[in-house]
Amino acid sequence: MKKEYDVAVIGGGPAGMASALAADREGASVILLEKDKALGGRLNQCIHNGYGQSIFNKDLTGTEYANKLIELINNSCVEYLLNTEVTEISLDKKISCINFGKRFQINAKSIVLSTGCREKAFDYLIDKKGIYTAGQAQRIINLEGKKIGENAVVLGSDDLALIVARRLIYEGAKVLCVVEPAPYPSASIKNISYCLSDYGIPLCLNSHIQSIEGEEKVEGVHIVTDTKNGQKKEFIPCDTLIVSMGLQPQYELLDKLNIEKENLTNTAVIDQKRQTSIEGFFLTGDALIIHSSIADITFEGEVAGKNAALYAKEQSESKNSISVEVESSDLIEYALSHNNIISVKVKSSNLIEYALPQRINTLDHKVKIYFRVKKTLRDARLDIFSQDELIYAKKFVVISPEELVEAEVNIQGVKGNLTISMEA
Ligand SMILES: Cc1cc2nc3c(=O)[nH]c(=O)nc-3n(C[C@H](O)[C@H](O)[C@H](O)COP(=O)(O)OP(=O)(O)OC[C@H]3O[C@@H](n4cnc5c(N)ncnc54)[C@H](O)[C@@H]3O)c2cc1C
Repeated sequence: MKKEYDVAVIGGGPAGMASALAADREGASVILLEKDKALGGRLNQCIHNGYGQSIFNKDLTGTEYANKLIELINNSCVEYLLNTEVTEISLDKKISCINFGKRFQINAKSIVLSTGCREKAFDYLIDKKGIYTAGQAQRIINLEGKKIGENAVVLGSDDLALIVARRLIYEGAKVLCVVEPAPYPSASIKNISYCLSDYGIPLCLNSHIQSIEGEEKVEGVHIVTDTKNGQKKEFIPCDTLIVSMGLQPQYELLDKLNIEKENLTNTAVIDQKRQTSIEGFFLTGDALIIHSSIADITFEGEVAGKNAALYAKEQSESKNSISVEVESSDLIEYALSHNNIISVKVKSSNLIEYALPQRINTLDHKVKIYFRVKKTLRDARLDIFSQDELIYAKKFVVISPEELVEAEVNIQGVKGNLTISMEA
């Protein structure tokens, strides 16, 4: 192992592997750092299928998809270190690592952070036996091969919750209902159909769990549902409660460097290269935003990895170059290219969760803007304005919060900042 690399990628899930491979293809020297004992990230616990069609032309399980990427890594010049946790990164791109208690440092010209996401915390009484987060349940069943209960209630209706509900059925358990406090489910339409409807699992909307019966172990839950005629109360005996409160990006290593964040949407600000507000630091995968497809994650990883390699190359070239006096015409060009950076803002709205990237260089002709809605919308309309001019509009029959929606916008010649607004 060397001490200096062009590109260091932190996190060896699908986003990190795709970044490392793209940087390698650009001729950069690449080190991939993974804290776990294997590459693959969360895909290692996704033993269900539904992955791979658009990238490998084959329907694969999450584990098979990870193995395909690992094979590509093994056939590339990418070096990787397992059991290696990155504990700190500094502004001058020194990366502090720990491997089985041994501390060491790696230097890089650019850094891609792809550390994935974590489950949001919840306040239920975790000390009772039989309560699991959806991720915990998925890991115990899929990786440890253990059964976790006979009769389950699931709280939360995001994709992960529904995938785990279906897995419980495969394991021979009964899923008595999925309880969702909102008036709409948050999972994608595909997963509502494949994981709930196909198995006849009831979905209780406008409902919450008021209390849990059982001293040491879950024996049942009291569910309250808001109806037009007041509240309906029901007791459901069960031995397992799965809680899924959603996922949140995990990018503390960069957050500590005070990268810019957008207040309204609470996301890290990036440009279309996936570069953060600090030059040479790139952010991708679920560490940036929660994606809904591994194909998107792979593509996003490639964008970040390629641009991280190009950034590293520019750094090397500027180090090796002789200084040249800048003439006034060069100065004008410089000023022009900076003027071409415009910002993308979500119009204060309770419908859009966030939109990315927030910075765009208009020297590119077309750019893809990704956004996510806060709740399921029907007959919705998306408008993108540059100052007061409408430059993009699209209608949607239905969009759910689990979908990462994409709008390809022609921004050639656009001068003012972009504003995204949604109506339904
Ligand atoms: C509990 C859970 C269950 C999920 N189940 C599903 C599912 O069933 N289906 C689905 O489509 N999606 C699922 N997801 C979403 C899934 O995470 C993404 O779809 C995908 O794996 C994200 O890819 P990624 O590369 O961005 O992150 P990840 O796959 O999470 O990979 C991130 C990698 O970074 C490593 N890492 C983190 N911090 C450090 C550090 N400091 N130093 C070194 N390495 C580090 C981690 O060990 C991990 O290997 C799940 C997510 C979670 C949190």
